[in-house]
Amino acid sequence: MPTGNVEMTRLASIAVPLPQIDLLSYRVPDGLDTPAVGARVIVPVGTRTMTGCVVALEEVPEGEERASPGELRDLIDVLDSEAYLPADVLELAAWVAEYYLCGPGEVVAGAAPPTAWAESRRVVSLTGEGRRALSPDAGVPLGGLARTALELAAAAEHIPVSTLRSRLEKAAGAGPRPPLASIVRTLERLGLVAVSQVIEGDRVAYKTERIVELTAQGSDVAGRLAEAGTAGRLGPKQRDIIGALAGAPGGLPASALRRMGLDVSGLRRPGLRDLVSIRHARVDRDPFAGPWGRVGRTSELPVEADLTPEQAAAVERLGERLDAASFHVALVHGVTGSGKTELYSRLAARAVKSGRDALVLVPEIALTPGVAAVFRARFGDRVAIQHSGLSVGERHDQWQRIRRGDVDVVVGTRSAVFAPLPRVGLIVVDEEHDASYKQDESPRYNGRDVAVVRGRQSGALVVLGSATPSMESYSHAKRGRYEMVTLGRRVLDRPLAAVRTVNMRDEFAETGPDHVLSRALSDAIQARLDRREQVLLLLNRRGYSTSVLCRQCGATLDCPNCSVSLVVHGRSLAVCHYCNHARRVPRTCASCGGPFLELIGHGTERVEAEVRAAFPLARVARLDRDTVRHRGAAADVLAKFGDGDVDVLVGTQMIAKGHDFPRVTLVGVISADVGLGLADFRAAERTFQLLTQVVGRAGRGESPGEAIIQTVYPDHYSIQLACRQDYPAFFDEEIAFRRAMHYPPVVALINGIVRGPDHAGAMAAAGELVRSIRSRMTDRSLTVLGPAPAPVARLKGEHRAQFFLKCAPSARNRMRAAVRDALRDHTDLRRRITIDVDPLSIL
Ligand code: ADP
Ligand code: ZN
Repeated sequence: MPTGNVEMTRLASIAVPLPQIDLLSYRVPDGLDTPAVGARVIVPVGTRTMTGCVVALEEVPEGEERASPGELRDLIDVLDSEAYLPADVLELAAWVAEYYLCGPGEVVAGAAPPTAWAESRRVVSLTGEGRRALSPDAGVPLGGLARTALELAAAAEHIPVSTLRSRLEKAAGAGPRPPLASIVRTLERLGLVAVSQVIEGDRVAYKTERIVELTAQGSDVAGRLAEAGTAGRLGPKQRDIIGALAGAPGGLPASALRRMGLDVSGLRRPGLRDLVSIRHARVDRDPFAGPWGRVGRTSELPVEADLTPEQAAAVERLGERLDAASFHVALVHGVTGSGKTELYSRLAARAVKSGRDALVLVPEIALTPGVAAVFRARFGDRVAIQHSGLSVGERHDQWQRIRRGDVDVVVGTRSAVFAPLPRVGLIVVDEEHDASYKQDESPRYNGRDVAVVRGRQSGALVVLGSATPSMESYSHAKRGRYEMVTLGRRVLDRPLAAVRTVNMRDEFAETGPDHVLSRALSDAIQARLDRREQVLLLLNRRGYSTSVLCRQCGATLDCPNCSVSLVVHGRSLAVCHYCNHARRVPRTCASCGGPFLELIGHGTERVEAEVRAAFPLARVARLDRDTVRHRGAAADVLAKFGDGDVDVLVGTQMIAKGHDFPRVTLVGVISADVGLGLADFRAAERTFQLLTQVVGRAGRGESPGEAIIQTVYPDHYSIQLACRQDYPAFFDEEIAFRRAMHYPPVVALINGIVRGPDHAGAMAAAGELVRSIRSRMTDRSLTVLGPAPAPVARLKGEHRAQFFLKCAPSARNRMRAAVRDALRDHTDLRRRITIDVDPLSIL
């Protein structure tokens, strides 16, 4: 664009969906209109072509752009005529990249469905000229691979260059590799083929359906059919179709006709051809029609049910905050079964009534159907769901519905915090303490914390809800930064479950070692089976047994790639939970040759087997990561349990969360000690949360609940206080520990891991990075621990060194800036470093 006499160059900063890469700068070439900020564009990155997103635009006088390092390349194409990602979502993504020290592109990529970023591919298609060249009487002499290439291109609309290459290589046989690039270039120059870019994702993005509708003539015929019962030469099958369409003014999808048992194969044949028209229309896939749609609430509450006094007071108080339409955070500490979901739903109604939207986050895919059902009861179709358990197409459709403004409420997991809702007035984070909100791969953001930032950005009320709040949120609430709202009683004054512990040391002493079920728990299960009530059994460890031990020499069966022992599955297969290395359990010890190998420590598979053996008539199911490998499996198990087709459900923490199953009257914890032994500062907090949550699954219906906790540490404060379900007392104990040991939330923490091919290399690189960080931060409150070998010192064949950075919360930003600067100076290490800001686990 000329300004005076100076030619200006248009530059675009692009976020590309690759990890740990800064924004890339491109020139907008003369032939292209300047794209909008937020629009998707196609750009070259190295030798690849990718879809990226415009984050910023600027114009510089021609010549001056050379100041930027490296060769400036041109945008290839602009995909959207306006912003694809709205400005506030881009701004949120930028905040996340800054705070969590990751690349902006990887955050932006996660803010839209995968179809948005599909890599474009180069494809070859035959031109008319090319088609003529292939015909037998063509004058062009075409031989060998060139002809083969044309024939391959002729077989379809287009063929990807990569496919063409492999086919030609096959056709060339064992000889030298064919010069494919020059073959295609020559054919292109001769005008026989065209080479172009296609976006792979767009084909699956929208789903269209054939809609069949009566034409004017068809309507006449339908009228005569209805009156006289005859209509010319139509056969019975054709009459049925006309009859069905006569009742549907807007037409019917062909699939619906087929479901009605009608034959739709003859729609285009004489007879019907003039009577019906067929058009293609976009349809939104309905995720509620899929496997997750069946996991609903079994106890549907009428939309205008009376609130409990506590619920009503909370709706009143928070409703006023909502009406004020400015940023505010409230922590709803409500015991399990106090009706928090109903509270969220009433608040959402208030937000929607004032013309704003509600965003509801749940920690896990399995919880979305239940919560979404409550919102669907109130808001009908104006609810969208967003989580990675949906098919790619469903995700795309749901996202587009949100973007178009077709919904008022979004229910989803972590990444739904980026949902493109235009006017967010309420953000709910249910089970805000849950570790699933933290993404355990880059970008390592915590969805709860990002939700608070989004709330600040859009002036929304943020409601964090939990029966066992995180130490972070509860201390904010205690110090008045968040408003504290307490729901201390269950709905309908239902009592909390009665909890008791069984000391497994005593049990082993009396009945022999290695029992899975104590006598007390067995008796309680039998009583539930007799009364046709349901039982949940928790063990937070999957597999059959946790290790294989040689009783002769003490050796364990370890992973060759990782410094961990292999976990036995199905009795005879030993698997590494970190790298998936698998082998058969040997008959003899590899170290001493002795035959006395023993399976040590039980997992959920063993519990399932023991329960089946002890209660042969019970219907038993298991829910853990191994049983939900394929899409819909978890939904299946939960739906069966909800329908009463399963008596005993065994599982890991997946069964502990949020679910509302009113027929569960007994919860058994096989071992409360699984997490306590871990050298993680959150071990006690995790144990308290898990126990309180799972105990809270009992007695949510008419019959009171009971919980039995098996442990060898019955005196540990997290177990004792979970039994009493006394959160405030737990908080006081735990915060004293964090203060004494300098752990969050008392300090800000960053966890760093540096990988290397050997131990010394990893430690040296980590040491260098730590020195570089230290030199940039003079803050007195900064403490650096390490580097030291990480708890899992070897992972997937790589050695790992770990370090911690701690500082006063007020110095948090300075600490992050020091790390960012140090990383900039060590780009050579980038691929070997993992930086976790506000880690939830340091293992
Ligand atoms: P929480 O999330 O606090 O554990 P839920 O929101 O799952 O609790 O509610 C527990 C049960 O109580 C649900 O079955 C819900 O339908 C029911 N419920 C909620 N509010 C009321 C109310 N005011 N009166 C009667 N039942 C209610
Ligand atoms: Zn391994």
